[in-house]
Parts: sequence; structure tokens; C-alpha cells
Amino acid sequence: MQKTEISQNLEKVKATFPNPDCLLVAVSKTKPNTAIQQAYDAGIRDFGENKVQEITDKAAQLPKDIKWHMIGHLQRNKVKFIVPFIHLIHSVDSLRLLKQINKEAEKVGKTISCLLQVYIANEETKFGWDKEELNSFLLGEEINTMNNIQIVGLMGMATNTTDEAVIRGEFKTLKDLFDNLKKLPLPKNVEMKEISMGMSSDYLLAQQEGSTMVRIGSAIFGSRNYN
Ligand SMILES: *Cc1c(COP(=O)(O)O)cnc(C)c1O
Repeated sequence: MQKTEISQNLEKVKATFPNPDCLLVAVSKTKPNTAIQQAYDAGIRDFGENKVQEITDKAAQLPKDIKWHMIGHLQRNKVKFIVPFIHLIHSVDSLRLLKQINKEAEKVGKTISCLLQVYIANEETKFGWDKEELNSFLLGEEINTMNNIQIVGLMGMATNTTDEAVIRGEFKTLKDLFDNLKKLPLPKNVEMKEISMGMSSDYLLAQQEGSTMVRIGSAIFGSRNYN
């Protein structure tokens, strides 16, 4: 069988992984089902999307053993649409959102795996928790009332810059935070095992700094056209 460009890109990207055990989440936002199917045929089962309508449509049309990852900012009123099928929500950027996920998950009798998105970048536009909020929430009372979520780690996005020292520093900050949280007496619905950090431009640095999941789009599917 002829190798598709997407399967070749996947091979190339994976060959550069400093950590072969790091999970590759193929970010397929804006890309058609045909492209996703090609990555699927090359063995990929984890796909990331950032829009509720798009991920819901794609999940309905594509193979049922795909694990769908929500990686973009999620509005509370849209949580209910993804809860029935979502594998992991990386982008839980507030307590209000987490509460809503718990509520909708309870309605359908599910437990939803979540990552808490941490604010590490030096940019106004990045969402997320800071260190103090995380500590007080994870050691507080409220988390114990959330029976339908499982927090499995942290997610972060570095500043959009070509300065590698800045990016590496931000990934280090996230890893340190993760390691420190791991040492705490965490509640039963919190487990620090995954760090989702790294995209096409910085996944090498991210893996060197301890990432367990990278979210890679353009290096696999080519650049995006937002029209
Ligand atoms: C789009 C996106 C990615 C992938 O970006 P690439 O540069 O195409 O690899 C990763 N993470 C998030 C949160 C994104 O929105």
C-alpha cells in the first residue's frame, strides 16, 4: 500500500521523540475526516480538537474506538455535548468549568477524566489555574464532593516565542508544580500521572522536560486554513 503523506509525517515526528512512551495526541482541528482516517489507518487512536461542534460531528462519523481529547477552551453551556463520549478534557481552566463537568457527568452516570490547565505562559490570552489556586483547591473540601470527575494531571501551553530558554523555563515550572503536587496527600479523585505539554513547535523541549502527552497538529496534518 502507498504511504500517505500523513503517515509519513507521523513516522518522521515519532522518530524524533526523545521519549517513545510519550503519548502522541494528533490535533485534527479544522482537518477533514479523510485526513483523520489516514492517521487512524497509520495506527493513531488519540485525536485532539478544540471546538465542541467539530469534535461532536467528527466523533459521530469516525471509528468508535477513537479516543477524543478536548484541548481548547470549553464553555460551560457546551459541556453536556461532549460528556457522553469524551476520553480526556485537557483544558479545564477554572473551578466553575470543573463543577459543570462533574454535574453533567453525574447526569449520565459517567466519570470524566480531566487535566487542570495551568497558566504558565507570559501572555494575557492563556487560560488556566495558578499555583496558589491549585494548591488550595486540591487540598480543600470541595474536591471531595466531585464524584464524577477524575483529575489525572496537568496541562500547559508555553508562550508563543522562538526563545527556547523561555519555553523550557515554562515547561520546567509546570513539571516542578506537578512533582510538588504529587507529594501531597491528594484526594482519591486526583492522581498526578499525566503532563500534557508540547505542540509541533516545542514538543522536543516538552518531552525533555518530562511531558507524558504531546498535542501535535501541523507537523502531522500540515498548516491550518481558518477560512
Ligand atoms: C492547535 C493546538 C495544538 C496543536 O498545535 P500545532 O502547532 O499545530 O501542533 C496544541 N494544543 C492546543 C491547545 C491547540 O489549540
